[in-house]
Amino acid sequence: MKIISLKEPVVESVRYHASCKACGARLECWGVHGLIGGSLRWDVESVCSGCGQTTADCGQELPARLREQLLADHGPATLQVTGPSVERVTVMRVLRAALGIGLKEAKALVGQVLAGAYLGTLPEMEYLARKLRGAGVDAVAARP
Ligand SMILES: [Zn+2]
Repeated sequence: MKIISLKEPVVESVRYHASCKACGARLECWGVHGLIGGSLRWDVESVCSGCGQTTADCGQELPARLREQLLADHGPATLQVTGPSVERVTVMRVLRAALGIGLKEAKALVGQVLAGAYLGTLPEMEYLARKLRGAGVDAVAARP
């Protein structure tokens, strides 16, 4: 298991194909997703083999399609909370703030997190791990 230092950017990239919206030919796409400077970002560049159109897009909320490609290519990472006496309330508070979720979702999620069963992309898990460590919880992102 590799533990990532606090400041280091965590970036994953993936290459995949899609259909061009303009002409329907095959698009070559390169997607990048990462935790950079403390926030999650993604960008995608594509080139059409038919009409030659190139597009670039980027944002913060990871699109489902790109997320699936990343998980398929790299495999999911887990969030591991390792401290001997973890405060559920603290973990829930961090999850709610980081993910913008309600109390009910956070309650369901904290069980998964503490069981080491919460999965996502490595940058997503590292983002949460850093937020948790910032709140004094011993947490790491790891790829099993
Ligand atoms: Zn095209």
